[in-house]
Amino acid sequence: MNRRTFLGAAAAVATAQAQRRYDLLIRNGEVRDPGRGVKRKADVAVQDGKIAAVEDSIAPDRAYDVIDAKGLFVTPGLIDLHTHCYWGPTGLGIQADPIAARSGTTTWVDAGTFGWDGTPGFRKHVVETSHTRIFGYVYMYTSNRNPADDPIRHARRGMKNTGEAVVNNKDILIGVKVQVGFNMSGKYSFDLFKVAREMCDQFQIPMMAHISFAPPETSEVMPLMRKGDVVTHCYNTHTLGIVEKEAAKLKPGVQEARDRGVWFDVGHGLGSFNFAAAKRALDAGFVADTISTDIYPLNVNGPVFDMPTTMSKLMHLGMSFDDVLLRVTANPAKIINAQQVRVEKLGSLEVGAPGDIALLAIEDGQFTLVDSQKNAVTANKRIVSRLSICRGRRMHAIG
Ligand SMILES: [Zn+2]
Repeated sequence: MNRRTFLGAAAAVATAQAQRRYDLLIRNGEVRDPGRGVKRKADVAVQDGKIAAVEDSIAPDRAYDVIDAKGLFVTPGLIDLHTHCYWGPTGLGIQADPIAARSGTTTWVDAGTFGWDGTPGFRKHVVETSHTRIFGYVYMYTSNRNPADDPIRHARRGMKNTGEAVVNNKDILIGVKVQVGFNMSGKYSFDLFKVAREMCDQFQIPMMAHISFAPPETSEVMPLMRKGDVVTHCYNTHTLGIVEKEAAKLKPGVQEARDRGVWFDVGHGLGSFNFAAAKRALDAGFVADTISTDIYPLNVNGPVFDMPTTMSKLMHLGMSFDDVLLRVTANPAKIINAQQVRVEKLGSLEVGAPGDIALLAIEDGQFTLVDSQKNAVTANKRIVSRLSICRGRRMHAIG
């Protein structure tokens, strides 16, 4: 190649690059990227499944697919840290994609719908077949047990397989889920929790602990939570909760756990979100780190419905839209990416971040919102999703 043909070829490449169109362009929206403090009107372009540009104005002829987001918030795709989306093998799981498509929730974390022996199925039938981005915590207690076998011995026997399942599947598994509560595992509850503690220490993996009914007491559970662990169902009104029943005062050990780096997650669910308890915690200055739904078939038709409904409940209690948004984007992304970067720039709209985007609106009106104990409030605003984009593609609400 001589100099002339070289320059000609270089110019052709440059022209092709200049002319290459974005796959998707969202124009005229209000960009909200709370992890980076971005709040501005801007256009967002997506190419090859990633955020390619965020600029004041990008001409519509530079993209194949142009969406007018006037009047809408353009946010990172929402991340739900506590769901049950291992559909099929157990009655607890729900399919992520149809709900993701209508709710802006493009990343789901399954909170222990399966044990270590369900991990290959989780990968093959859920993670790999879903358009939604999916991760999980593996449940510490395996399914098959001889009824004559002591439950603690059974759990101890599963420690190695459970720990290794997480270590060997770190691309999709974050840690171990354990349910702490007398209603979940009766007199074994505290001992099972201690087995989980030992296992997570041994394998150096995070734990997500469900809290519900004492015993054990909050003051016994909190000291065993470590930096990077998650306490879920933090706004429940049960005996094993984070806030006192009659006052806006935290229970012993809760603030100390937070100071150590323990995360606190909402995990709404069928029984675990109570307006009054949440209000007392907020009045005590305790804002959950992550807002999640704990969605499954028994609550998808109420009281949970979806992530925007759960977010609306926290907004009704006085949190700002941006404060709520941080807890469903950048904060859960930090937990997913804590031990290793599983998805670079997840939970943001930075250039190079995944092309996961929610188009949200805040509607004015009179909306009834119901908590897990069937307490109803009337909110004058609610958050709704208008479009979910995941991996750079529009999701369509079907099924
Ligand atoms: Zn759950």
